[in-house]
Amino acid sequence: MSRVAVVGAGPAGIYAAEHLSTVHGYQVDVFDALPVPFGLVRYGVAPDHFSIRSVRDKLTDTFESPLVRFRGNVHIGTDVSTAELASWYDAVMYTYGASADRALGIPGEVSPASIPATEFVKWYTGHPDAQDFGELLRTSEQVIVIGLGNVAVDVTRLLVKSIVELRATDMPDHVLDSFEKSAVRHVHVVGRRGPQHATFTTKELKELGELEGVEVILDPRDLPADDAIASSGSKVVERNLKVMRQWSQGHGESHGEVLNASSKKIEFHFYSTPQSFDSKQRSLIVERMQLSSDNTVMGTGTYESIPADIVIRSVGYRGLPLEGLPFNDRMNVIPSHEGKVEGLSETYVAGWIKRGPSGIIGTNKKDAVASVESLAADLNERQSVAIDSQEIDEILHARGVKYIDFEGWKRINAAEIALGASKDRARTTIHEREKLIEIGLS
Ligand code: NAP
Repeated sequence: MSRVAVVGAGPAGIYAAEHLSTVHGYQVDVFDALPVPFGLVRYGVAPDHFSIRSVRDKLTDTFESPLVRFRGNVHIGTDVSTAELASWYDAVMYTYGASADRALGIPGEVSPASIPATEFVKWYTGHPDAQDFGELLRTSEQVIVIGLGNVAVDVTRLLVKSIVELRATDMPDHVLDSFEKSAVRHVHVVGRRGPQHATFTTKELKELGELEGVEVILDPRDLPADDAIASSGSKVVERNLKVMRQWSQGHGESHGEVLNASSKKIEFHFYSTPQSFDSKQRSLIVERMQLSSDNTVMGTGTYESIPADIVIRSVGYRGLPLEGLPFNDRMNVIPSHEGKVEGLSETYVAGWIKRGPSGIIGTNKKDAVASVESLAADLNERQSVAIDSQEIDEILHARGVKYIDFEGWKRINAAEIALGASKDRARTTIHEREKLIEIGLS
């Protein structure tokens, strides 16, 4: 029976493992550098998006198969090289995603008060490597979120959501405590283009207008005169514009007006390209843009200052290279053709490291299946040359690699549910790596 290694236990990796095992009957080992599986389902999807996070239950089923093993806390590239992996398995599929942030390249960007959204998301989801932003939230009233995508919307919503609602999530206790003590009153969402160019989806956008005690402000002059023309046939854009037009009609007159002290505000600043951040002056300078006839934007030479105690840069995720694999450093992906990595045999990719950071979780299923089909077309021609699964575990042991298997994850899962129950919550994420490893190995 052929044996395949999958590197990355996020949605793409687990969907690949499912297809490799159920459709092709291969044995699959899924490796992850983290002690726990699920990738962005655990460390990306917002904790208050319960239904999207419940995809985890479906993904869990894959690991129940006797053909699929989870090997967490194994860092490919450090604990095991890519060359070793290639020699141990009949084929390897890399699905390790895009974990880094993209830079804006503006003065002042590197400052303790200028945070990549990727890091902020890691923090509120309880990623073991996250920095702690609690103190920053306790001392900041005005936050700027740069970007008009779904991550920007997630970050914005969580910054102003009521603590009662946040308590229903599985955020770690220290994160919940920080949100409770947060001084944030006003979130400015800054985009370099217009409402019709935003990449957020309508369901996510609409939620901003449904938050208790939160006023949404946008300048009606930023909305296109004709929604139908502006949307150019995109139903999502059409629906987004409808939502924003309703907001602007509801609040157009009060744009910029000081609201009662108890309400928080989300204010959109479209057509505003960030130029520099001054953390001492606590302001972000933006250049006002204008729309050209060809639907692109150009600078007007007019600059504005937006108050900012913190800037959160939500301008996209970025894939990282892995030693031994080719890398396209313009696209930040592993170059491939139909899922097969260029220049290497029996090596495949799926998910964000294949196509870049776009799409919803379900997009990864189709993508992973396509890559698996490429792999199977090559592999089914050959006899297995893989080494025994027991042998792989022995090598890891001999190197002192404390891998977490699926039984270990089940113990972590039970511990998180028990921790939650102790404080009347459904679950509380354990964020300390050592603790996760300790429970996983117990
Ligand atoms: P995204 O949708 O690509 O949005 C990135 C944003 O950053 C865009 O508004 C982009 O503006 C802006 N940007 C890029 N470079 C910039 C610069 N130099 N200056 C100013 N703005 C800049 O990415 P994302 O929000 O990180 O989301 C990643 C993927 O995950 C998306 O497919 C998203 O839908 C998905 N996701 C889904 C959900 C959900 O379904 N609930 C939640 C979170 C994430 P331009 O358009 O002008 O380039």
